[in-house]
Amino acid sequence: MRRSARYTSVMPGDAQKAFYLETFGCQMNAHDSEKVVGTLVQQGYRRVETVEQADLILYNTCSIRDKAEQKVFHRLADYKKLQKQGKKFAVLGCVAQQEGEKIFEKAPHVSLVCGSASYRNLPQLLVQIEAGKRATGLDDRQTDECFETEFTARTNPHRAYITIIEGCDKFCAYCVVPYTRGKERSRTSESVLAEARQLADLGYTEIQLLGQNVNSYRDPEGKRSFAELLAAVGQVPGIHRVRFTTSHPRDFTRDIVDAMDAVPTLCDHVHLPVQSGSNRVLQAMQRLYTREQYLERISWIKSARRQMVITSDVIVGFPGETEGDLEQSLSLLDEVGFDGIFAFKYSPRPNTPAISLEDAVPDEEKVRRLELLNQRQREIQIVQNKRYIGTTLEVMVEGKNEARNQHIGRTSQNKTLNFSAPESAGIKVGGYANVRVTSSFPNSLIGEWVVE
Ligand code: SAM
Ligand code: SF4
Repeated sequence: MRRSARYTSVMPGDAQKAFYLETFGCQMNAHDSEKVVGTLVQQGYRRVETVEQADLILYNTCSIRDKAEQKVFHRLADYKKLQKQGKKFAVLGCVAQQEGEKIFEKAPHVSLVCGSASYRNLPQLLVQIEAGKRATGLDDRQTDECFETEFTARTNPHRAYITIIEGCDKFCAYCVVPYTRGKERSRTSESVLAEARQLADLGYTEIQLLGQNVNSYRDPEGKRSFAELLAAVGQVPGIHRVRFTTSHPRDFTRDIVDAMDAVPTLCDHVHLPVQSGSNRVLQAMQRLYTREQYLERISWIKSARRQMVITSDVIVGFPGETEGDLEQSLSLLDEVGFDGIFAFKYSPRPNTPAISLEDAVPDEEKVRRLELLNQRQREIQIVQNKRYIGTTLEVMVEGKNEARNQHIGRTSQNKTLNFSAPESAGIKVGGYANVRVTSSFPNSLIGEWVVE
């Protein structure tokens, strides 16, 4: 049985309309797409793998950086000619919310434009476009509701995402999210726990709690703090691993580390984006914390009973960033000893305060800074990963590299650990195995299966 296909189709065989959906961007978008797919199937649509087979083509878009935004317009231009065959096009997600009805001007073959906070209205919007009308769902900043649906077409049968908080009210100077994903709104902890129990019953063993700022979670019923919810999800029978992302430093409280100490199913990993190591830049970014406050949170995480892996996001080339500011970011990498970072060149975004700041950093200079940062981080990761050699780590098996005859595993620390094992070990995707680490690379580990 494919547990991921927990939805029913209501229209028989050939009468079903076919849809093709492509997703850009973050895990939140990937999970939104799982919910959109479930909703479409529930409405009688069937998913197909190519644009050519589809009646309705949907793009779930990202506008966090300029490149991501351009991709969707390229796709729409590539497939414009298919409109003559009666195919319909829909733009969902952040670009939809940001550009709104302007999308109909830029790409007149689009029928539906819908931001993420309007997905609950998709059934009605689909009826409108099927009747040959154009439809928009763009009420994001107003809504207090989350997109909760029982029709989620989860793509992975072992690891499941649960969005616990949507939107963002923090308005960092460079970021489009508060404009594209609406105001911050949390689900009740009871509904999150009910979903976690249901997932455990269906055989899922890993849950990832999601939110733009997952730890800004506020239970509307006031029953549980974020740390209490984390602990409660970790104690659901059958759940073996719980991850949570992304945490915001401002809302990172010590009780999160206490929960990680108390509940062993909570994974040994915290993703805590810093964005810059310079207080001057942090202030201009309106992050509302200092380097020192960030380092204090790091010291809490490092004082946990288990050794935690810490990863981060860093932006280079924010307007006015000097060589001295960059040096501060580089020294922060050394001081924390991150196990991984996502480093980005600052990308000016519409509607954001930073767009009108002076002292733009030229693109070649951003490229140089990005390379410097990535090179320093690579050196750190070589050292960080070496410390695992000789230790035994538990992995969830994610697949097999047949060419190398190696299984692909993921550790609690969110590291890729590729390993060999005899046939007799009966290694299965979705199962767990203990692996002794024998060598390391900057981005992965190698090991051998060990008998439990
Ligand atoms: N809410 C999280 C936080 O505040 O740490 C981050 C969520 S954001 C969707 C993911 C990452 O995209 C950010 O951490 C930031 O590094 C990056 N990002 C956001 N806006 C950007 C921009 N205009 N240019 C470059 N990177 C950007
Ligand atoms: Fe964007 Fe800042 Fe909100 Fe993160 S906290 S989503 S970076 S505005």
